Amino acid sequence: MRASGARLLLLLPTTTYRTEAFVEAAAKLGVELVCASERASTLEHLAPDALVTLDFADPLGSAETIARFAARRPIDAVVPVDDLTTVAAAAISQRLGLKANSLPAVATARDKHAMRRCLAAAGVPVPRFGLVGLADDPAARAERVEFPCVLKPLALSASRGVIRANDAREFVAAFRRIAAILESVEAPLPDEARQALLVEEFIPGREVALEGLLIGGTLHVLAIFDKPDPLDGPFFEETIYVTPSRLAEPVQAAIAAVTRDACAALGLTEGPIHAELRLNERGPFVLEVAARSIGGLCSRTLTFGTGLSLEELILCLALGRPLESLERERRAAGVMMIPIPRAGRLASVRGADEAAAVDGVEEVAITMHPGQAVVPLPEGWQYLGFIFARAETPAAVEHALRQAHARLHFAIE
Ligand code: ADP
Repeated sequence: MRASGARLLLLLPTTTYRTEAFVEAAAKLGVELVCASERASTLEHLAPDALVTLDFADPLGSAETIARFAARRPIDAVVPVDDLTTVAAAAISQRLGLKANSLPAVATARDKHAMRRCLAAAGVPVPRFGLVGLADDPAARAERVEFPCVLKPLALSASRGVIRANDAREFVAAFRRIAAILESVEAPLPDEARQALLVEEFIPGREVALEGLLIGGTLHVLAIFDKPDPLDGPFFEETIYVTPSRLAEPVQAAIAAVTRDACAALGLTEGPIHAELRLNERGPFVLEVAARSIGGLCSRTLTFGTGLSLEELILCLALGRPLESLERERRAAGVMMIPIPRAGRLASVRGADEAAAVDGVEEVAITMHPGQAVVPLPEGWQYLGFIFARAETPAAVEHALRQAHARLHFAIE
């Protein structure tokens, strides 16, 4: 690392919610940022040393562009934001010789089918699964499927395009709906992800998310979030996340152990991971391990040590700086991702002040603006906003989030 301040490359998809949190963390740590995104910024010519345009769908091309940039302005670390940039980040890190997850590990985690195959082969509990080509006849395929099942795209996130089917008719409808979503997706997707989808056994039970940090191959669990709203389909809208988990210690230990096995099987070794697991009497099942931190604005629920943000931890780790503490604050915390009740145009939002006044609520962030088109799942991927709460117990946090949500009124035309 250079003696002067460190320089870090942040890979930002245009659709991310996470820019502000990472930029703030870099400022706090006194790190010089170079931001790469996939659309040329109108400001790029004004700040050629701070802004770069990359095609994230072309990881090796991105690595080449950054290698040329780094010859002039050395880069000390690369941090991907959200799923869309993890593979490019691994390719760039490899090219620059930086310590990071390997390209094959990240590519496997990024492709839901490859991840299932890898985890199943390693004996990690995952749903039974199969691939269906978009050119296949869904009605014929439905005859060979066990119901209920879940159909999903191979490389989208935020539950976009994930649909439960209980019978052959629903299977065909879900297949067509996902095919239409894939036609309209603008994001850079690998070719295979546009040509097939995954069909899985529906795993009943509760769901949790695990936020972790891999350091030299060792998984440190930062937080386990309970998701108290049932997620039974047909669409799987994320709503409330609360930590610490109210599950019994041995169950939490089993969740951590299975996630650890999944990371090892994938070959992930460095940086943040976000895992989703389902639990029932058969134990924990891994739905997903992504080589990135928690999405949306949800990281605001997490503070560590003397008040460090998740993003500060991630940047410190990437730069090889010592980590003060991985201990989450003692109080319970949670977030509600405010779901979109129906499609239309957001006309107005009322009740934000009343919601923010609920005991325990820290912030109500409405992230959509009046006039904006709002699209619910399974086609959409955004939220109306986020509510954050902290309290002594997880139950009090959940209660505060529900109370605040009940005070919000979204007029959708
Ligand atoms: P994404 O990466 O878009 O979030 P996931 O594969 O994680 O997609 O699925 C999103 C959500 O759909 C999960 O959090 C879960 O609630 C539900 N889900 C996905 N697969 C299954 C499954 N096999 N059984 C039960 N629920 C599932």
